[in-house]
Amino acid sequence: MLMRSDVMEALVLTAPREFEIQEVPVPEIEGDEVLCKVDTTFICGTDPHIIQGDFPGFWPPAFPFTPGHEWSGTVVDAGPKAAALGWKNGDRVCAISHVGCGYCRNCMKGRYNICLNYGDLEKGHRQHGHITPGAYAQYMRASVKSLYRIPDDMDLEYSACVDPLSIALYTVNRSRFEPGDDVLIMGTGPQGLMAQLCAQAMGAGRVIIAGSGERLKLAVGLGAVGIDYRENDVVEAVRDMTDGLGVPRVLECAGTAKAINDACLAASKGGVVSMIGIPHEDPGLPIKRMVLDEVELIGNRANPNTAEPAIAMMYEGRVNLKPLLTHTFPLSDFATALDMYEGRRDGSMKIAIKPN
Ligand SMILES: [Zn+2]
Ligand SMILES: [Zn+2]
Repeated sequence: MLMRSDVMEALVLTAPREFEIQEVPVPEIEGDEVLCKVDTTFICGTDPHIIQGDFPGFWPPAFPFTPGHEWSGTVVDAGPKAAALGWKNGDRVCAISHVGCGYCRNCMKGRYNICLNYGDLEKGHRQHGHITPGAYAQYMRASVKSLYRIPDDMDLEYSACVDPLSIALYTVNRSRFEPGDDVLIMGTGPQGLMAQLCAQAMGAGRVIIAGSGERLKLAVGLGAVGIDYRENDVVEAVRDMTDGLGVPRVLECAGTAKAINDACLAASKGGVVSMIGIPHEDPGLPIKRMVLDEVELIGNRANPNTAEPAIAMMYEGRVNLKPLLTHTFPLSDFATALDMYEGRRDGSMKIAIKPN
């Protein structure tokens, strides 16, 4: 019998931009859920937006709320259905945030990231750290639909990156990438760099990346051809590098109106722009060019069915995320960690939070 306290420390958002570490009850689990002791939760680019209240009434649906979705941990209790499915205490797991209802037509097709019952808890949908409580806490309640066991000798902290890496992998896959293809990546944030590492692991030709500052230097150090977008016209620079043809696979990881426009203009005739950046303003796309040159623009949400290959790529050393893992803080220092992440201070890229 595992002894544990029935209270835990958790980051609790009480209003936009207002949060504190509170003592709260350890969550109760049921059905296909397990309770996990959290090892690591990484700060995701979405977290500051959730904390600032950029998605009112949606992420989170209400206050108080505990965010956090890029996490790993160890199972300490399993609900009856989870136990029947073979989940047990001691299982070492990493997680994704989406839990499809499992019954709608999209879930039936494996497209649980666009579940038709999104946000409907009665019908079994969850999104941990977005609409249902997340992992900036000592314990995490999660449906086993969102969990993946990791090999015994795979590091738990490292495994907490499976969520963002599998999003990067999905973005590459959706560009209809094939080995040898040249790739252009817009943005040198964590998602841009993870997309670079995936494309390289999958046998890309040239990987060109547009960004700035220390992060661009890091991308170049990891093998990309860099374009500093503050000093160069990205579209012109790409055309100069490609005999005017553009690049067949463009991965949009910056999320600004300008970057999305540049992505659509730097794509080759017949090229694909695969997007994960979410612009806040209307990007006013170059539609005429896209129609006449058959440039495709593909939206991507999260990481359906790409966590297992991402784990394999990390475990086998096909991608090495270590240069991106820059800082570690205890949960009690979350405010300092968030401030460093938002200010991109001290070369920060992926920041690990340790609740236990
Ligand atoms: Zn995330
Ligand atoms: Zn569904």
